[in-house]
Amino acid sequence: MRSLTVYYMVMSCQLQALQPFITHLLPPTRTVRLTEVIVEPEDVCFQLTTTAPAACCPRCAVPSSTVHSRYRRHLTDLPWGTRPVHIQLTVRKFVCRNLHCTRRIFTERVPELVAAYARKTHRLIAALQAIGVALGGQAGARLSKRLGLPASRDALLRLVRRLPLPVIPPLRAIGVDDWAYRKRQRYGTIVVDLERQRPVALLHDREADTLATWLRGHPGITVIARDRLKAYKDGARAGAPQATQVADRFHLLQNLAEALDQVFSAHGPALKAVSDAQSCLPVTQADGRTAVSVPPSTPTPQAQTRAAQRRARRLATYAQVWTLHREGWSNRVIAQHLGIGRMTVVRYLQAPTFPERKSRSETRRSLLTPYQEDILTRWNAGCREARQLFQAIQRHGYTGSYPTVARYVQRLRQAQGLRPRGRRLGPTLSRVVAGRPTPLTTRRATRMVLKPPSKQTDDGTQLLACLKDQHSELAAAIDLAQGFAAIVRERQPDGFDSWLARATASAVAPIRRFATGLRADYEAVKASLRLPWSNGPVEGQTNRLKMLKRSMFGRAKIDLLSRRFLRAA
Ligand SMILES: [Zn+2]
Repeated sequence: MRSLTVYYMVMSCQLQALQPFITHLLPPTRTVRLTEVIVEPEDVCFQLTTTAPAACCPRCAVPSSTVHSRYRRHLTDLPWGTRPVHIQLTVRKFVCRNLHCTRRIFTERVPELVAAYARKTHRLIAALQAIGVALGGQAGARLSKRLGLPASRDALLRLVRRLPLPVIPPLRAIGVDDWAYRKRQRYGTIVVDLERQRPVALLHDREADTLATWLRGHPGITVIARDRLKAYKDGARAGAPQATQVADRFHLLQNLAEALDQVFSAHGPALKAVSDAQSCLPVTQADGRTAVSVPPSTPTPQAQTRAAQRRARRLATYAQVWTLHREGWSNRVIAQHLGIGRMTVVRYLQAPTFPERKSRSETRRSLLTPYQEDILTRWNAGCREARQLFQAIQRHGYTGSYPTVARYVQRLRQAQGLRPRGRRLGPTLSRVVAGRPTPLTTRRATRMVLKPPSKQTDDGTQLLACLKDQHSELAAAIDLAQGFAAIVRERQPDGFDSWLARATASAVAPIRRFATGLRADYEAVKASLRLPWSNGPVEGQTNRLKMLKRSMFGRAKIDLLSRRFLRAA
């Protein structure tokens, strides 16, 4: 018994004097009296005893004052400082006086302090739940240990699971989007209250029926902003036929970007031509002087051979994918048969011509990279000898080989149009700068097209003009894409119909497919151009959800995830 561990006892309080103060620090109960406080080096122990004259049988609710026996319950409460607090609560067992009751003996309850059979007080449980909601199991267990209220990871998660989900207020406008439990494998649905900008529900899948059922439970919704998933369209129509569906403008632009990306992928050579032409142009520096950039490196013959072999392998796979596709096999079967990813199959089938891989040398770092700036400075100051430059950077810690330096110096000569080993020096030479323009990837080109005109740079405008000159299809795609982006951004429902007609008639297949998709969802797209609602708040919440999901290593089931996500919002 704890009261016998006298050797640890530091002091036993003068209870009469201290009782009123200490009682304030205990959980608020009127039916319990403090009898003793024991402060030990490792913990604090309160001995409490119940004071109610009678208690009601939990089965038949008839009061009884016939005491059968007493026993002690051992509880844990919030710590004092970092010292854990134990409560020894003496409770009585009563005899049930109701002859018809099946219960003969029952223990009195102290519902303000602790639940029946529980070992933790209500307020300790509330504190642990707050920690669990904020931090989850593992991190929560670490923090609670530091704070003196230790609980295992599993115990914390169990407590969080016991919390009810927050009550959902009456809703008017909601945003619906999907989120990935596991990318490309399993998805759920997030529902956000657009007026209050708070998440209200997580649904376990992204099926039409699930959404419809949820919507039926929340009548009064008049606006549903959603992405262009067909299931959401059907679910919203079935569950809330009264509501106006609004396609999300962000997703509209995202779908457009995907279509553009396909257009640019099919025109890889045109992009490369524009990119190369741009990298050879002299750049004007801040001080008004022109400078030339270092040209891209040419790979060694061995590297070229290896690259050619890799390309041949990819080309063969590309041909096989199309052959199998024409034979009628599904993407999944093709991917399995060829041992490649399903998304690779999709990408190959979306590309009418073989998609070339972007060169990796553009972004590759070498041992020389940190010293390039140093070499350039010396070079521009007139030092043109590779051997001297090599020795100079070696003194600064360069550990790479001489040929690497020599190849780089060769590129510098090339930039200034010098003959190999030429020694022509003079003020007419332009300075060489490292800042080569970033290569024009499909993604960068797409971003440039969709950039609002107010944010467009001169370089961007020039580059787009070059791209349009390369091919009539590129020109058409860029014009149509910019037209649609403007309609969405400035919300001009009037311009939409004529745009749709032009896009549907266009010769660019990906844009035509995009337009067909819009036509299938015409009402919602049109509504998105008329109404101010957007799924912006949903995107924000989806990001928070992703972070939460990753912090639980993707192991959390939806009940736990919903509680942590919705309660911490
Ligand atoms: Zn009873």
